[in-house]
Amino acid sequence: MRYGHNHLYVPGPTNIPHSVLSAMHVPMEDHRASDLHELTKPLFADLNKVFKTTKGQSFIFPATGTAGWEVALSNTLSPGDKVLSSRFGQFSHLWIDMAERLGLDVEFFNVPWGEGAPVSEIKKRLSQDKDHEIKAVMIVHNETATGVTSDIAGVRKAMDAAKHPALLLVDGVSSIASIDFRMDEWEVDMAITGSQKGFMLPAGLAIVCASQKALEARKTAKLPRCFLDLNDHIKTNPQGFFPYTPSLPMLRGLRHALDLLFEEGLENVFARHHRLAEGVRQAVTKGWGLELCARAPKWYSDTVTAIMVPEGFNGADVIDIAYRKYNTALGAGLTEVAGKLFRIGHLGDLNEVSCCAALAAAEMAMLDVGIKIKAGSGVAAAMEYYRKNAPSADKKGTAGQARALKSGIKKPAEGRATA
Ligand SMILES: *Cc1c(COP(=O)(O)O)cnc(C)c1O
Repeated sequence: MRYGHNHLYVPGPTNIPHSVLSAMHVPMEDHRASDLHELTKPLFADLNKVFKTTKGQSFIFPATGTAGWEVALSNTLSPGDKVLSSRFGQFSHLWIDMAERLGLDVEFFNVPWGEGAPVSEIKKRLSQDKDHEIKAVMIVHNETATGVTSDIAGVRKAMDAAKHPALLLVDGVSSIASIDFRMDEWEVDMAITGSQKGFMLPAGLAIVCASQKALEARKTAKLPRCFLDLNDHIKTNPQGFFPYTPSLPMLRGLRHALDLLFEEGLENVFARHHRLAEGVRQAVTKGWGLELCARAPKWYSDTVTAIMVPEGFNGADVIDIAYRKYNTALGAGLTEVAGKLFRIGHLGDLNEVSCCAALAAAEMAMLDVGIKIKAGSGVAAAMEYYRKNAPSADKKGTAGQARALKSGIKKPAEGRATA
């Protein structure tokens, strides 16, 4: 028996605002309609704003983030090409695995899980590569498995210092639209994301942005590609069409999700994610006295926090009790850190109270498995932080009210009881 709603705090799929769900709830449309471009062309332009690029070109595939990895690799590289990466969590591991399976020669730094891309080692390795055998550097911006954010600006600086012409391919699946990402400024050549994290949509879209340099590399890249070939999109997207049937409800949802992001303002979205994350970190370290998987503040992720469970306990038990007893979904530890941690995803459509609820569920579940924390200590630490730092809505009302008004839900008349 389940009562109330399920509280979703996995780092993707994330919570979908009601107005986004409503925007997707439309009868099927003709994907070759002569006015389809009115919906699709602005999507490409607005995605560029999210990637912070004026020079790049955005693409939308009916797929997931994993396909975005393959778009980036197969459209820019040839069999046997050497690429440089770093492995520091399940997602960086899987992307490396894909590159190997596609026939690339992957050299990678094995970094302890809890740290991010080793900028100075990358710089050293690229400096040694005088013949420029390394064709691309692959980095996961936000390692969702460990709650670690890497310094992409630093990686760009390292590449420039080594005067290395390799392409910079960045997985931003759990960062883009939640954490600041600067395609042009960091000279990222392929930026990859998906619909079910910061974009607050179901899984189903791989969203990729390519730089002019990447589009140029495509002309000589020989890895086999068909469904994921950018060329077919380059031919059809300018007219507002796709080489195959797009998922129009997803595109309608994306339209509304982008409107919400711009209405809040991207910089405010980033600030909110930072604030929510900081409250969760205060709960973990100051309230519970537990450790984060991220080993130093410079690695702290503003979209997901991975919490180490004390020796002798299994993180999977905490997650299981949270789910079965408290109807709350927390993120699991994956492969190398399975059982050693649990994760709270705090990205997408969330606010301070949502995070307090996540912390309360985690506290109850931890107490139930016997972890020695003080009941209420994490929630109290987060509350203190949020009370000091949350901005109050202006007189026009809260974002939630504005959203309800926009989606046609009437605001109760002034002064009337609304029980
Ligand atoms: C979720 C995620 C992916 C995988 O995306 P799918 O949509 O599940 O294919 C890749 N990289 C990172 C960092 C992620 O968080």
